[in-house]
Amino acid sequence: MSLLKRNKPVNNEANSDNTLAKMALSNIHDGVIITDKSGIIKFANPAAISMTECSGVGNAIGLDYALVLRIESKEGREYSPAENPLIRAMKTGQSLENYVVCLVTCPGTKRIPIALSVIVEDGGEASRIITFRNVTKELAEDSEKADFISTASHEMRTPVASIEGYLSLALNPQTSTIDERAKGYLTAAHNASQHLGRLFKDLLDATKLEDGHVHPHFEPVEMVGTIKQIIDGYAMAAKNAKLNYQFGSNRSKSVSEVRKLDQVVYGFIDVNFMREIMGNLIENAIKYTPAGGSIYINVRGDGDRVLINVTDTGIGISADDIHHIFQKFYRSDNSDTRTIGGTGLGLYIVKQRVEAMGGTVWAESAFGEGSTFYVSLPRITGEEYEKRMIAFRNAALAQNNVNQVNNNPNGGIQ
Ligand code: ADP
Repeated sequence: MSLLKRNKPVNNEANSDNTLAKMALSNIHDGVIITDKSGIIKFANPAAISMTECSGVGNAIGLDYALVLRIESKEGREYSPAENPLIRAMKTGQSLENYVVCLVTCPGTKRIPIALSVIVEDGGEASRIITFRNVTKELAEDSEKADFISTASHEMRTPVASIEGYLSLALNPQTSTIDERAKGYLTAAHNASQHLGRLFKDLLDATKLEDGHVHPHFEPVEMVGTIKQIIDGYAMAAKNAKLNYQFGSNRSKSVSEVRKLDQVVYGFIDVNFMREIMGNLIENAIKYTPAGGSIYINVRGDGDRVLINVTDTGIGISADDIHHIFQKFYRSDNSDTRTIGGTGLGLYIVKQRVEAMGGTVWAESAFGEGSTFYVSLPRITGEEYEKRMIAFRNAALAQNNVNQVNNNPNGGIQ
């Protein structure tokens, strides 16, 4: 068989490969659009035409991708050009993997949830490969699962808190008398109940966005001051872990080490989401950095993005693990991490929250030397900040008035 193949003329082999590739692309259910570097469509498979409902414009060849592939956020929010992950990937050449957004069909009548990927090839005629998959069914299943998990974790948190409380009482010499052996057993049970409590809390946090119970509440903020305030809350924990903790510098290899704290950078974010994101990243940096190490945090404007980094000189992440750490329940398994507690949900929550704000998160690491986690969020100009601030204050004022009327429907007449 292999001999026969080798004896065939090379051209025939290439032709048959081409036919097979075309057959595969014509029959798969995923949409595939291939464009050149400037975004002009060179190829669109039948699934892409059918999902986008762009048959009215022919086979889409020669059109700008933005005319055929219009997207909104997962929640149905319109993206500004700086926020739009597809525009960003196409423009900057940064790949995108399974980013869940809503596809707006060409006639504008339907919105379909899709997992969008952009693969960027070096140069050439066909240098951007966009693939998208309808995830309506997956999201519905995920939402059902999330609903179940959040109800179950919510119900189980109360008895777990009670078990933890009683174990604390049993271990407290002022409330109980126990022998050394029992103390050992109860300490182990206490640690396990604390871990279980943490797991339920993380599960609840992870499912809140999935089951649609939590939506981001955007507000215009000055990013450097906001982040500084959040990270100050972890200074004591870092000190207790004997770590050097610095704001305003980064030791990462890929970003120049410039102090830019006097830079004023504006963003449009959910501050509570930001607290969760920074909290998880800093807690990890503390947890995975042995005493004597350092943590550096920085915020800066980077074109139309705000770039935040949390860098540590800790145990680092292996090249195999780094592709999986943002997945639900993923924990690296090595001699260092085995002794450090965790649920494997923190980075999943971080990714979810960052993406809900139109951002991206990624990690760079040298195993044994340390890691840097980057969060990139859309940036707004000073002018936009002022405008959105006025709108935000007016909305808050209007809400306040509504609340007052609701609390006192008689308008103050008792
Ligand atoms: P966990 O609760 O296990 O910390 P996370 O989702 O926060 O869960 O992190 C997933 C995995 O990523 C961790 O188990 C750890 O192996 C790795 N990790 C995360 N942050 C760091 C870090 N700063 N340094 C080294 N490894 C890290």
